[in-house]
Amino acid sequence: MMHRVCLLGATGSIGASTLAVLREQPERFQLSAVTANSNVVQMQAICQEFQPAVAVMVDEAAAKQLQQALQGGPTEVLSGAQAVAEVAADSNSDTVMAAIVGGAGLVPTFAAVEAGKRVLLANKEALVMSGQLFIDAAAASGAQILPVDSEHNAIFQCLPAAVQQQLGHCDLVGAGVDKILLTGSGGPFRQLPLTELEQQTPAAACAHPNWDMGEKISVDSATMMNKGLEYIEARWLFNCNADQLQVVLHPQSVIHSMVSYTDGSVLAQMGQPDMRTPIAHCLSFPERSVSGVKPLDFLSLGELSFAAADSARYPCLELAMQACWQGQWATTTLNAANEIAVAAFLAGQIKFTEIARICAVALDRVAQQKQTAELNSVAAILSVDEQARAYATEQIKQVEQC
Ligand code: NAD
Ligand code: MG
Repeated sequence: MMHRVCLLGATGSIGASTLAVLREQPERFQLSAVTANSNVVQMQAICQEFQPAVAVMVDEAAAKQLQQALQGGPTEVLSGAQAVAEVAADSNSDTVMAAIVGGAGLVPTFAAVEAGKRVLLANKEALVMSGQLFIDAAAASGAQILPVDSEHNAIFQCLPAAVQQQLGHCDLVGAGVDKILLTGSGGPFRQLPLTELEQQTPAAACAHPNWDMGEKISVDSATMMNKGLEYIEARWLFNCNADQLQVVLHPQSVIHSMVSYTDGSVLAQMGQPDMRTPIAHCLSFPERSVSGVKPLDFLSLGELSFAAADSARYPCLELAMQACWQGQWATTTLNAANEIAVAAFLAGQIKFTEIARICAVALDRVAQQKQTAELNSVAAILSVDEQARAYATEQIKQVEQC
C-alpha cells in the first residue's frame, strides 16, 4: 500500500531524517503535504524535490516568497497556523509525522489525532501538554499513535503485539511487564563539576555527545528536561504508574530503552543513535524497511555502562518526574515554562542553571493561583500554557534587571 504522508515540521531535524527515509522508498511513501515555520530556502528545495500537493508556512511573508518561488509548479502554498492544523487533518494524507517543536505542535497534532490518522509522534510536548485528552481523542477517532521518540520507539518494539495495539490503554501487568527502563545519555554536562554548570553557553549545551538534534531538544538533553518530558510521554503511551517507570543513565546511547518482564527477562532495542531508524520503523509498521542506517558493529562498540541520574545535576528531571504525578496542570505548566526559559537561554538572556529555577517558580505560581482544576479541553490547556509562559517571562525580565 502507498502511504500519503503529511510532514509537520519539514524543515527541522526530524523533518530532514523523515525526508531521508522517504527518499529511500519512493514506491512506498508519497509526500503529500509539508509545513514549516519560516525557512523558505529549505522549504523550496523540499517542494522542488518531492512535489507535495500542499506546503504551509506559518509566517505569512515566508508563504508569499515560497509561492513566488514555486510558481507554475504543482504545490499549493498556504499560510498561517490554522492552515497547518487543517492540512494535518486533511483527507489527502493517511499518515501524519508530527515533528513540530514545542507547544506549537499541540493543535495540529491534536487535529491529526481527531481526524483518525496514523500519527507518528515525535512532538512529545503535545502529549506532555494534553495527556489523557490526547489518549482519549485517539481512542475515540481510531487514530493509531506510533512513537518516534527513540526511547519510546524502543520500548514499543520490546512490547508484545497485544500491548502495541492498545497504546495508551495497555495492561502492563497483564502482559507480564515489571518495569519500563527509560535510558538517557546524561547529555554533554554529565561529568562537569557542578560549580561549572552555571557558566555553560548555548553552544556547549547544544553539543550533544551522541545525537544531532534541533536546538530546543539539545538544551533539554543537557538539563535532562528531555528525559523528564519523555518520562511523562512514557506514562501516557504505556499507561504506567510510578513503580513501573525508571530512568537509567546510559552514556553510550547504544541501548535506546528496555522492558523488564516479571520472569527476569529484559528486552532492549539497540542501534545507532540515528533517528532514521525509529522513523522508518513507524512509517513501515508492522513491517520493516530500509532506513539508510548501518547496523551496529558489536566488535567495535566498546563498553556499555549504566548509572543513576543525580538529582543535584539534573533538577529539571526531578521537577518533571514530580509534575508527572501531580496532574495535567503541572506538566502543561512545566512544558510551557521550560520552552520560554530555553528560548531565553539560547538568546543569551539567562544562565543555564536558571532554566530549572524558572520552571519551579512557574509551577509554584500556577499551584498558588489554584489553576489546578481538570484540564478537559484543548482551550483549557492553552489557557494554563499561556499563564505559565507569562510567569516564566516575568522571571526572565527580573533576571535581566539584576
Ligand atoms: P527543529 O527545531 O529542528 O525543527 C522544528 C520544526 O518545527 C521546523 O520545521 C520548524 O519550522 C517547525 N516549527 C517551529 N516553530 C513552529 C511553529 N510555531 N509553528 C509551526 N511549526 C513550527 O526540531 P527537531 O529537533 O526536529 O524536533 C522536533 C520534535 O521532535 C520536538 O518535539 C522534539 O522533542 C522531537 N524529537 C526530536 C528528536 C531529534 O533527534 N531531533 C528526537 C526525538 C524527538
Ligand atoms: Mg528521545
